[in-house]
Amino acid sequence: MKTMLAARMHEIGGPLRLEQIPIPEPRPTDVLVAVKACGVVPNLKNVLTKWPEWFPYLPLPRLPAIFGLDVAGVVSQVGTQVHALQPGDRVYVNPARGCGSCRRCRSNEIVNCPGFTFQGYFGRGPLSQAVFDDYPYGGMSEYITAPQSALVKLPENVSFEQAARFGYLGTAYAAIRKSGARPGRSLLINGIGGALGLCAALVGLATGVTTILGTGRNQQLLDRVKNLAPRRIAVLAVGKRPVHEWASEITGTEGVDAVIDTLPPGSPSSAMQDALNALRRGGRGVNVGGVGEPLPLNVHRLMGMNIQLIGSCWFTTSEGQDLAEMAGTGTLDLSVLEHRRIPLRDVNEGLTSLQDANRGFNNFVVMP
Ligand SMILES: [Zn+2]
Repeated sequence: MKTMLAARMHEIGGPLRLEQIPIPEPRPTDVLVAVKACGVVPNLKNVLTKWPEWFPYLPLPRLPAIFGLDVAGVVSQVGTQVHALQPGDRVYVNPARGCGSCRRCRSNEIVNCPGFTFQGYFGRGPLSQAVFDDYPYGGMSEYITAPQSALVKLPENVSFEQAARFGYLGTAYAAIRKSGARPGRSLLINGIGGALGLCAALVGLATGVTTILGTGRNQQLLDRVKNLAPRRIAVLAVGKRPVHEWASEITGTEGVDAVIDTLPPGSPSSAMQDALNALRRGGRGVNVGGVGEPLPLNVHRLMGMNIQLIGSCWFTTSEGQDLAEMAGTGTLDLSVLEHRRIPLRDVNEGLTSLQDANRGFNNFVVMP
């Protein structure tokens, strides 16, 4: 039996153990993907070591488990009922899994499945363990299996490292679509210097959003983001003045058409509220960030100003394919990402030594 190297967690907080395990055979409608790059959330180590206290309501896979969310690689083998993908195809694997047969899954709404689960990360419902049992392989491994319907085909000129960032890019893209931001419109990105915020800026530029306003804490980082497109991007270091006041000036007192909140976990709800106050009448706010405390929301104001507030979770494989096409033509410019490569064999040391100085511009990837 052929084996592969995998980093497996045996206990929460313990080091990942590098082990040789059998290479799985893909089931009839699945593919086997040779992992070339796996995206790493900068605080993955914290999440994995402090899991029970941080997210007690999100089920983890049964241990030992292989983590690793955003995989890019090459199709190595296909199941007997896979006809439109071949070994050698370069792909990104959307890790969003549903149970496959509930009403929502049958409507192609995987994120709305009661068993919605991130392969290689965590679940969101009681059916999640069954999904983990079907797809137990995360990206910190040499191979993973995945359903054929979860694959995004990558153009030749999109690197595996760039594709390992599709989780953030796709989340941003789905949020921008829900926000209605498009050419001629303005979009405020709350937290534009972070991994998700920067991706929202890149996708906003790619989709033709005319004016992008971004908030953050680090002026140096904000200046770097502004330099991506100085005539289209305006930035504000928070704390200097209220966000809505600044946004009102830029938009000729009307307010912004859309707000996307990408603030990291632990951010105060007041920071989100400040950004939402920048919406114009009829505007839309979309949350993809990690603000965890309840928002003291003035729903009477939402009603009176005809404002919508929307939660957005992840993205569809079809949206991922849109991104791949945009990146292939250069419409979506991913050249600004700075890859920080961690060899799979050094994953424990790599995860503890992640430096986050460049925030969103850093792209951490584990590479077998
Ligand atoms: Zn389902």
